[in-house]
Amino acid sequence: MTTSFSQLSLAPTLARAVAEMGYEQMTPIQAQAIPVVLEGRDVMGAAQTGTGKTAAFSLPLIQRMLKHENASTSPARHPVRALVLLPTRELADQVAQQVKAYAKYTQIRSAVVFGGMDMKPQTIELKAGVEILVATPGRLLDHIEAKNCVLNQVEYVVLDEADRMLDIGFLPDLERILSFLPKTRTTLLFSATFSPEIKRLSGS
Ligand code: AMP
Repeated sequence: MTTSFSQLSLAPTLARAVAEMGYEQMTPIQAQAIPVVLEGRDVMGAAQTGTGKTAAFSLPLIQRMLKHENASTSPARHPVRALVLLPTRELADQVAQQVKAYAKYTQIRSAVVFGGMDMKPQTIELKAGVEILVATPGRLLDHIEAKNCVLNQVEYVVLDEADRMLDIGFLPDLERILSFLPKTRTTLLFSATFSPEIKRLSGS
């Protein structure tokens, strides 16, 4: 199995960001998930925070999104193509910071939206257009209802810490969010446990 980042055919802009972070060897979840996500396949992974899971899904996602890279200032040229859902604002913030760091030499834009904060600055960012949107479910629904973002061009959805999202009671919100996405999309689901509810969610 490939375990070194240099053995992956990451774009130079991504490889440079990874090298700057000081990563050399992939963690086990990265070695398992990155090649599969690069192929565009669905992934269900059992992984907890601290295992390098964020890079495991974000690096191949950004790589696959590079074909959409553009410097246009038109929001229409920057529709949401990947949606990353997390249970808490702390997790959403951490993941968004990592995504920004990995994408820093690319023209792929990202933003994070979570509750307990003014909607306005988030709205401005959404309306300018972002390719990768990191969000908590409740606040994302607020933005969808306010028509601040359109999700009909989403190609990837990441359900991170899926078991915790269900524990918090986000299942109805998640089901609503998924109903706004195109039927043909790639789903990446990470969870520490795999209950029947998680399997049902991944199936939907
Ligand atoms: P995560 O599990 O995604 O929250 O990542 C935990 C921490 O490990 C983060 O601070 C990452 O920057 C770091 N990390 C992720 N992948 C690697 C790697 N391959 N080598 C070294 N550090 C890493």
